[in-house]
Amino acid sequence: MRIEIDYDRAAYILQTLRKVRQENQFPYFLPEVIPPQIPERMPKGLVIGSPDHVSVLFNSCLIMRGTINSQTAMQQMYRLWEAHRRPFFDPREAMKMDEEWAKEILWESGVRYNHKQNAGFWIKNAEKLCEYWEGNLLKLFEGAITYEEAYHRMIRNNGSPYGFYGFRHKMASLLIYFLTWFSLIDRYSFPFPADFQVSRLFITNGVFRFIDYDGQSNLYAEPFLGEMRKLSLWFEKEYGVDGLEQSDIFWLFASTMCEHNPGNRRRMHPGDYSSESRRVYRGRKVRFIEDLPEEFPGEDKLKWTWRDVREYNRYCRFCPLRETCTLNMPWAYHYRQGRMRPAGEREKPPVNNLDLFDSAM
Ligand code: SF4
Repeated sequence: MRIEIDYDRAAYILQTLRKVRQENQFPYFLPEVIPPQIPERMPKGLVIGSPDHVSVLFNSCLIMRGTINSQTAMQQMYRLWEAHRRPFFDPREAMKMDEEWAKEILWESGVRYNHKQNAGFWIKNAEKLCEYWEGNLLKLFEGAITYEEAYHRMIRNNGSPYGFYGFRHKMASLLIYFLTWFSLIDRYSFPFPADFQVSRLFITNGVFRFIDYDGQSNLYAEPFLGEMRKLSLWFEKEYGVDGLEQSDIFWLFASTMCEHNPGNRRRMHPGDYSSESRRVYRGRKVRFIEDLPEEFPGEDKLKWTWRDVREYNRYCRFCPLRETCTLNMPWAYHYRQGRMRPAGEREKPPVNNLDLFDSAM
């Protein structure tokens, strides 16, 4: 498979969303379109820029690498900080935690996604912070004036002795985003964090073309993610929009909007599951598709409900990218099968209560 980037389309997406955001138009004025880290949502007593705050931001990246909404993940971190700020949020104490105890506390505190693995990673990462950066994450960025150097210090699977457990490019970008957002480190070039939702936005809007793609394989992998990073740096070079602004433009948009496209929320085709996977997936209980009618024709067409029509009217109908967005890309394939892939063309409802209303005007 070969990947091509349509740079004209990419520029259109960037400029359209940038303008809409600068003018505070839909969807950026919606109350839910806010970064998860905003001070208004921080718990009382947590001081911006304090070691505890830096530790909360750092460890939230560990939690956000999973299938979890970023707002939820940040709130979980805040609750954990309120209940167990020591030993969890001081690396010198966290590195001494008993792993079994840490697992239990994460679970009891509601930080449940991948909690068994995360407990171990939390402890090992605290050890690395103490061993290489005197327990102070901000020291990692001293002298790291390029994102490549910062990545080298943060990402483990590139041969770096410093690298943190669970950290890959997305988490490294996310951490730089948080720290620059609060001006805790200097602002410099970095690619925006390309999570599933941002990646989906660029694919469904035709920025990427996948030559010789089989239509089934997982797209959310290298080299696609490498192309996303390349595109992000191109945005900065050509349009002067750095990673911080790009993150606020794309991340906020994608994490709020596209999950409401009924074609993205659709359930998976029955043939995609085993009966076992209906009950438990990756160690957690999930709600599956028992209610999927037999006559449902797979992923080619959506059986519209009034709820779908209402969701469409709230989001896709007024989306500034509605002219270029042509594909569905349901989250279920990614989160439950580990395969990000398109699934049919984005549809409009066959009957729309708003259309009826409009024509009566
Ligand atoms: S039209 Fe809908 S799915 Fe497409 S970009 Fe807009 S909100 Fe997302």
